[in-house]
Amino acid sequence: MEKIVQPKSSINAIKKFSIDQDIRKDKIKLDLNENLMGCSLKVIEALKKITCEDIAEYPNYNNFLEKLSKYLNINKDNILLTNGADDAIKAVMDGYLESGDEIIIPIPTFYLFELYSTFLGAKKILVNYNEDLSFPVDKIIEKINQNTKMIIFANPNNPTGTIVHQEDIIRILDKAINSIVLIDEAYFQFSKKSSKDLIKQYENLIIIQTFSKGFGLAGVRLGYIISNKDVIQNINKVTLPFVVNGLSIVAGSAALDDLEFVNHYVGLVKENRNYLTTELSNLGVETYPSYANFIIANFGEKNNLIYEQLSEKDILVNNVSKQPMLEGCLRIAIGTKCQMETLIEEIKNLL
Ligand code: PMP
Repeated sequence: MEKIVQPKSSINAIKKFSIDQDIRKDKIKLDLNENLMGCSLKVIEALKKITCEDIAEYPNYNNFLEKLSKYLNINKDNILLTNGADDAIKAVMDGYLESGDEIIIPIPTFYLFELYSTFLGAKKILVNYNEDLSFPVDKIIEKINQNTKMIIFANPNNPTGTIVHQEDIIRILDKAINSIVLIDEAYFQFSKKSSKDLIKQYENLIIIQTFSKGFGLAGVRLGYIISNKDVIQNINKVTLPFVVNGLSIVAGSAALDDLEFVNHYVGLVKENRNYLTTELSNLGVETYPSYANFIIANFGEKNNLIYEQLSEKDILVNNVSKQPMLEGCLRIAIGTKCQMETLIEEIKNLL
């Protein structure tokens, strides 16, 4: 038999993230940090009005870009639309990372940062978060040198839920003058803080945001990159033409017309997060302060058992116990009050 054609060698180093959506059906899905209150009904109304022509034609992004630019208070030349934040991460790395380039990644963090830099053959400089899960700014600054091509982190961070303070970001930017500083702000609506305005002072700063979390549009896949004009133009060259589909634009545009929905959801997350952390603390389970729509809860030695038994009760959470600093921990998305009460009842029974 003929030898089958081998893929690129860097693929061998990759373990594909996959999730069985059939298994998740009809369960309490606290595993993927989705918006468990759904999305604005205005989005559904807008999608219902789509015409055959809208579907048949290649998308026109201009009106949406205008609207997004007003929402962000950022010039539209400083924005590039992407197929979710995932695609934004890929686009930035495709544009700037070459094989052998050094990339600093504080861990634990979003898996894709490591995965895609591995694929590109970059040299990963992994820096552990501090023991108390605070951002390891000093350790990062120590690692920045003339070979550092990129520093990437999430603010708020997934899975820790912690934030990076503005003064720490500025310290990094001031040191990393020859590197790209990429900040993934997928959860910025929960922390209500963004570094997007710093792009005016720092040409090497790139911000990524998404419609998946606060707006509840994970299913439509819509994200964007914010940076200075030159960076945006460079990254635009490596993204595919029409990478964002027309339906996402319709959904995103309607979502921007209903910011009240986002505010309401963010308020509920805060309320239900407080409820969950207080109840867990009453049960002797340690949690960490979170600025996102999920929390980290430390179940210690009982962690794996709790994870499996919750799953048997159709409650899905994310077992992050194998990640650095997070031994014994589960990541739990914040859902409706009713979902949080069900979760607490089950945990009470299991403990
Ligand atoms: N960045 C972070 C930090 C995330 O946690 C996630 C998704 N969980 C993403 C990016 C991907 O977001 P999107 O759905 O917009 O691709």
